[in-house]
Amino acid sequence: MIEIKTAQEVKEMRPAGKFVGQILKYLRQHVTVGTNLLEIDDYVHQQIDHRQGASSPYVNYAPSFGTGPFAHYICTSVNDAVLHGVPYDYNLKDGDLISLDLAVTVDGWVGDSAISFVVGKDKDPSDLKLIKATEDALAAGIAQCHAGNHLGDVEHAVGEVARERGYSVNMEFGGHGIGHIMHGDPFVANDGRAGRGFRLRPGLVICIEPWLMKTTDEIYQDERDGWTIRSADGSRGAHTEHEVAITDSDPIIMTARD
Ligand code: MG
Ligand code: MG
Repeated sequence: MIEIKTAQEVKEMRPAGKFVGQILKYLRQHVTVGTNLLEIDDYVHQQIDHRQGASSPYVNYAPSFGTGPFAHYICTSVNDAVLHGVPYDYNLKDGDLISLDLAVTVDGWVGDSAISFVVGKDKDPSDLKLIKATEDALAAGIAQCHAGNHLGDVEHAVGEVARERGYSVNMEFGGHGIGHIMHGDPFVANDGRAGRGFRLRPGLVICIEPWLMKTTDEIYQDERDGWTIRSADGSRGAHTEHEVAITDSDPIIMTARD
């Protein structure tokens, strides 16, 4: 069922989105060559523990697409890992591409956002191009988040940027409605048909999350942790996400990092 929030509920959701945005902003500035993925997880754990009313929707999360409880506070997907990366004992190396996907519950409302970046000095231009494609696809999707447009307009805008840049889109995972639960209706695919699907209205809050891989649209799940989604051909992936509220004027980016 697609939930429509009142203006008051959208207001109540904002601290969760802001908190997620602040943590990702800090990590973007401080995660670097030598940072261990478990340190990132510990940092997020501490931030959540110190924030009154905050909890992690990840720790006990056990959906059909994963294996048992996730048991960590953030997804850290490095290089050929693109989604749901389980943090493990690994020190980032110069030129690694990392995607951080974070959701936190604050006062009963979930905030959800993701960023990708390359650490160190040895940045492969094709990695930066891939990341930029996910960011531009997200911006194109957000630009369609106006009441009266259709969900298909958002999905089509995302997919069109991906295709223009030469990437093919995997449709198995995508964005979603969000509120008291992390993954609600509607599913927001990373490609679609303009003018089709649910008609956007004020109070709809969705996560748009373009994720792309360099030379494939096929994935597999890492058997070692039962969660991490990797590209089938070993090429690198990137993932960018914002939580967006549709209003009667401009959309609100709930997880803005400013
Ligand atoms: Mg999400
Ligand atoms: Mg997310």
